[in-house]
Amino acid sequence: MKSITLEKNCIYDGNLILVNGQYPCMKNGAEHTLLPINTDTNRVQLEANVVKLLSSIIDKLNAWEQIRVVSGWRSAQEQQEIYTQSLKENGTAFTQKYVALPGHSEHQTGLAIDLAREQANIDFLCPDFPYVGVCQAFRKNAISYGFIERYPKTKESITGIAHEPWHFRYVGVPHAEIMRKHNFALEEYICFLKNYPYDKKYYIFRIKDMCIEVSYLAAEKTADTSFELDDNIPYSVSGNNIDGYIITEWRKNNGNQ
Ligand SMILES: [Zn+2]
Repeated sequence: MKSITLEKNCIYDGNLILVNGQYPCMKNGAEHTLLPINTDTNRVQLEANVVKLLSSIIDKLNAWEQIRVVSGWRSAQEQQEIYTQSLKENGTAFTQKYVALPGHSEHQTGLAIDLAREQANIDFLCPDFPYVGVCQAFRKNAISYGFIERYPKTKESITGIAHEPWHFRYVGVPHAEIMRKHNFALEEYICFLKNYPYDKKYYIFRIKDMCIEVSYLAAEKTADTSFELDDNIPYSVSGNNIDGYIITEWRKNNGNQ
C-alpha cells in the first residue's frame, strides 16, 4: 500500500471540478498548462491534455474544415468583459441565460470549449452546432474521449444555464460514459458519487478488460487529506470543487480486487 496526501487546495483542481452559479472556479493562472488548438487562424487555448484529445476527435472525423473551436480557456477578466459587453448589447435576460457570471464560468477551468459549424458569420456567444451531420458525429465520438455536452435542454433547471448545443466539457474517461449511461448532468453525477465512499463502496464501470472503480473521498476540513492506495494500480484524483475528491482506480477485470 502507499499513502497519498492531497493538499487542501487540490479540491479546486482536476477534470471533475463542478463550476456553476453556486461554485466559482478557484483555479488561478499558475495552475493551468495551456496550449493553443492546432490551427493557423485560431488562438483558442485549453488545458494541454484537452487540446490533444479534442484534436484527436476532429482528426478522426477529418473535420477541421467543418468545425471551428470558437472559445476555450478564458481568464476571469475576459469573462468579466464578455459579461459586461453582453449586458450592454443583449440585455439582462439574455445574458443571465447564456453567459456565466464572472468567476463562475466553466471556460475559466480550461476544460470547456464552444464549437461552431464553420460558416461565414459565426455567433460568438451562441454558435450554431446542430444535431446532424459532422457536428452530431463529433457529439457521439466525444463521449468515449471524456467530453460531455454540458448544458442539455432537459437539464436547464439543474445546471442553471440554458440549452447550449455548442458547449462541451472535458470530464475524463470513464466519467463521460457513466454520465451518459445514467443521463446525469455534472451536478447530478458529483452528488451521485457521494453514495460511494472511498474504501467502503465503489461504483464499478467496465471497459474492455478493465474494471474501473470510482469513489468519493471527503476532504478533511482543516488539514490535508490522506488516503491509502494499492501499489501498482493506475489511478487519478480530481477535486469536486466543493468538499472532496473523486478517485478513479483502473484494475484488470480478472481480479486483484
Ligand atoms: Zn461555452
